[in-house]
Amino acid sequence: MRVVMIGPPGAGKGTQAKLLEERFGVPHISTGDILRGAERAGTALGLEVQRYLRDGGLVPDALMIDVVEKRLAAPEGCGFVLDGFPRTVTQAEALDAFLARRGERLDGVVWIRLPREELVRRLSGRRVCAACGAMFHVTFDPPARPGVCDRCGGALVQREDDREETVRHRLDVYERETGPVIDHYRARGLVRETDGTGSREEVFDRIAAGVR
Ligand code: AMP
Repeated sequence: MRVVMIGPPGAGKGTQAKLLEERFGVPHISTGDILRGAERAGTALGLEVQRYLRDGGLVPDALMIDVVEKRLAAPEGCGFVLDGFPRTVTQAEALDAFLARRGERLDGVVWIRLPREELVRRLSGRRVCAACGAMFHVTFDPPARPGVCDRCGGALVQREDDREETVRHRLDVYERETGPVIDHYRARGLVRETDGTGSREEVFDRIAAGVR
C-alpha cells in the first residue's frame, strides 16, 4: 500500500497514519518527525532545518526531496503512509518521478479536512512529551497530571510551532503551497476527501473504508 496523507496541520494526519500503520502494517513516514529527530540529534540536517521548524515555514524542496527519497529507497516494496510530504507541487512531481523510476504508483491520497478555527484550537492546545513523543491536548485529551506524560512520566511541552501565531502562519502556508498539491492529485483521480471531525476512531473508519 502506498498512500499519501494530505491535510492542514492539526487535522490528525499523524494520528491517522499511525492507525493505518497498525492496521495494515505499512510504515508511517512523517517528514516532520524526521526533521525534529534530526534537530534533537544535532545532525547537519537538523541544524539546516532548525529555523524553518521554528517559524513554521517550509524547508526548501530540494532538501526535502533528498530526505524522502533516501527514506523511501531503504526498505524495498513494503509501501508507505507518507505524512507531511509532498507539501508543494514540486515535491509531488518529484515523488511521481521517483515512483515511476521504480515501476510503482500511489494507491491513493487521503485528504483530511477541518474548519480553520478547529485546527487552531487543536494545535494551540496540543502538548508533547519531551521524552517519548506521546501527544496530549489540554482540553480534548488531558494527561492525568497536568504537564506530566501518562505513558513515561516525562515533561509535557508545547512544540514551538504550535504557538497560536505560528499556527496561523502554518495554516496560511498550507493553503498557499499545499492546496495546489490536492489539485495535482485530483487531476489523477487519486484524492479521497475525508471529513476530519469527530473522534479519531470515527475518522479512521472513514479512511479505512476507502483504503482497501
Ligand atoms: P509537521 O510535523 O508535518 O507539521 O512538520 C513540521 C515542520 O517541518 C513544517 O512546518 C515544516 O517546517 C517542516 N516540514 C515537514 N515536512 C515538510 C515538507 N514536505 N516540505 C517542507 N517542509 C516540511
